[in-house]
Amino acid sequence: MTKGWNKADWRSKPRIQMPDYTDKAALTAVEAQLAKYPPLVFAGEARKLRRALGEVAEGRAFLLQGGDCAESFSEFTADTIRDTFKVMLQMAVVLTFGAKVPVVKVGRMAGQFAKPRSAPTEMVGGVELPSYRGDIINGFDFTPEARIPDPQRMLQAYTQAAASLNLLRAFSTGGFADIHRVHSWTLGFTEGEKAERYRDLSNRIADALDFMNAAGVTADTAHELATVDFYTSHEALLLEYEEALCRIDSTTGLPVAGSGHMLWIGDRTRQPDGAHVEFCRGVQNPIGLKCGPSLSTDDLRILVEKLNPENEPGRLTLIARFGAGAVGDHLPRLIRAVQEMGAKVVWTCDPMHGNTIKSASGFKTRPFESVLREVREFFAVHKAEGTIPGGVHFEMTGKDVTECTGGVRAVTDEDLSSRYHTACDPRLNASQALELAFLVAEELSA
Ligand code: PEP
Ligand code: MN
Repeated sequence: MTKGWNKADWRSKPRIQMPDYTDKAALTAVEAQLAKYPPLVFAGEARKLRRALGEVAEGRAFLLQGGDCAESFSEFTADTIRDTFKVMLQMAVVLTFGAKVPVVKVGRMAGQFAKPRSAPTEMVGGVELPSYRGDIINGFDFTPEARIPDPQRMLQAYTQAAASLNLLRAFSTGGFADIHRVHSWTLGFTEGEKAERYRDLSNRIADALDFMNAAGVTADTAHELATVDFYTSHEALLLEYEEALCRIDSTTGLPVAGSGHMLWIGDRTRQPDGAHVEFCRGVQNPIGLKCGPSLSTDDLRILVEKLNPENEPGRLTLIARFGAGAVGDHLPRLIRAVQEMGAKVVWTCDPMHGNTIKSASGFKTRPFESVLREVREFFAVHKAEGTIPGGVHFEMTGKDVTECTGGVRAVTDEDLSSRYHTACDPRLNASQALELAFLVAEELSA
């Protein structure tokens, strides 16, 4: 793909949002160790995801990307992984029914550990300490020791990602993902009094499944009903980690990031001449690019050219995150630039990162209404421009947390303190995430 590119080239580019490790010898030792470890994903899988996203770019599939803002070492349990996986599968069934196309499922999982921050330090009760940058870099505890970047954390992140992927692979093919089972959980959700408005749609899905069953299309006869393809993704922020896990694909002879199937570039690290773009442009995995309000049309053109010079559909996913009320100010100009270039991209909507507010009770939260509104604006702009709204990107968990307000099982401002567990940004809980899937399905079938 990129001739003359070397996995260490990013080192000569301006880097931001990355830690300064003080113990260079320890860092080098960790990098050498990671470089010897097996990759977490195989090149063939990354290529398969790129083909699937190519279908999304053409409007023949829909992308569902979701998971934690930041995975953490302390919340690492089988139940956490299972619950997020489970609600994503439920959402995918609902979205498949609404969109009438396959849903490509990509978790923010098994590697989503490094966080960009808006400020280098945090102040609590008159004490100022370096910001928490994700468990792969430093610790969440508000102590000077915890906040020192420690390269050893990369090894723990690798191990956690490997174990998470192992479980996800088992869930994907071992019977857990059977569509009938998945939908029976959703029927439980819509039986609740408040979710009544979604009951009709979920009953129609149940009828469709019963019909297929009667016609002999069962999990035994049709592999697609019993198993799923589930992919992993994370922000490629900590480039020492990414470089150490970069491998040469034996089939194509090209470099591939071994840390996850899809990598994305954050809104803060997308400088066209910066280190993050330099690393990502050289690996053949599907790449996401966060597009926030400060992205100029000129920069987008340069980035599209750099990240997808061969204009392969599925290589580049543009993740729009402007905030409710602001989509119309930015998305049309960016869509037009892409159209003028004749560039084939996936457009997806992240309605989380432009909608973070501070609640009256002091918690960082996101109102369900704003999230939904941004999704609707995203669909409306694509409709007006004649382009394809390819997917959605959510920060969510399968747990019953109280981090975002609203939804049918309404979380109020006062509730936020009761189960606020996120290590970083507020996530939709299982019920809010599934409800959004129903609302997006309504948009898709409208
Ligand atoms: C994120 O996805 O968690 C994130 C930090 O997003 P953005 O780069 O769009 O702010
Ligand atoms: Mn986030």
